[in-house]
Amino acid sequence: GVWAILKNNEMLTWPEKVKFAIGLLPAMLGGQAYVEAQDGLTVSEWMEKQGVPDRVNDEVFIAMSKALNFINPDELSMQCILIALNRFLQEKHGSKMAFLDGNPPERLCMPIVNHIQSLGGEVRLNSRIQKIELNPDGTVKHFALTDGTQITGDAYVCAAPVDIFKLLVPQEWREISYFKRLDKLVGVPVINVHIWFDRKLKNTYDHLLFSRSSLLSVYADMSLACK
Ligand SMILES: Cc1cc2nc3c(=O)[nH]c(=O)nc-3n(C[C@H](O)[C@H](O)[C@H](O)COP(=O)(O)OP(=O)(O)OC[C@H]3O[C@@H](n4cnc5c(N)ncnc54)[C@H](O)[C@@H]3O)c2cc1C
Repeated sequence: GVWAILKNNEMLTWPEKVKFAIGLLPAMLGGQAYVEAQDGLTVSEWMEKQGVPDRVNDEVFIAMSKALNFINPDELSMQCILIALNRFLQEKHGSKMAFLDGNPPERLCMPIVNHIQSLGGEVRLNSRIQKIELNPDGTVKHFALTDGTQITGDAYVCAAPVDIFKLLVPQEWREISYFKRLDKLVGVPVINVHIWFDRKLKNTYDHLLFSRSSLLSVYADMSLACK
């Protein structure tokens, strides 16, 4: 990772690279404790504090913040960037991306479904939870689905997106500190546009290419990346 940054002269100048490296030193030396302590700072605040030039932010961190969390450097926690950077910089294949060699329903979802079924489980599609019904002691009585079905179990897991889950949290749970922490979690609206070109773009790689603009474009040559 470090070698890739040093070799590339199309994005950052040498003075910018040196200032960036000096800014990153405490993260490299301070380890996990330092990384966790940066959660209170946004990426932009951290860059300013460490004297990293603004152009590093524009050339590298707009795309990285968008790619990691779909938000801008002035909103994203620096902890998130440092966790990713540690992998990119310290592991030989840390920035390697893997693609599925087929469509996600077949190549990702079906193996999961098969595994659940092989252990005697059942996967029901188009089954929406309407309400989490509680016992008088506040534990879950059942999940009530929109079609009137009631699902009971030994343990209950709800993996709905956070904004939906917040609507499903029963009134009785809302003041419990564990669930109160949900207040700070908000979903990020993402509009996803897929563009298929009728010819190959020049200079493509077996990797994802990210634009540096604040409107994030991601390009992948599927004929190379999904082989
Ligand atoms: C454009 C885009 C590109 C991405 N690219 C990548 C990538 O390349 N690699 C990567 O690792 N990650 C990528 N991600 C992130 C990844 O897709 C998500 O992190 C992941 O899908 C989250 O999984 P999840 O199961 O937590 O939530 P989701 O996939 O959002 O699943 C939540 C499920 O809950 C269901 N649900 C909603 N309401 C109810 C209800 N009332 N009752 C029952 N079910 C309900 C929904 O139908 C949905 O199926 C990308 C995300 C986006 C938006």
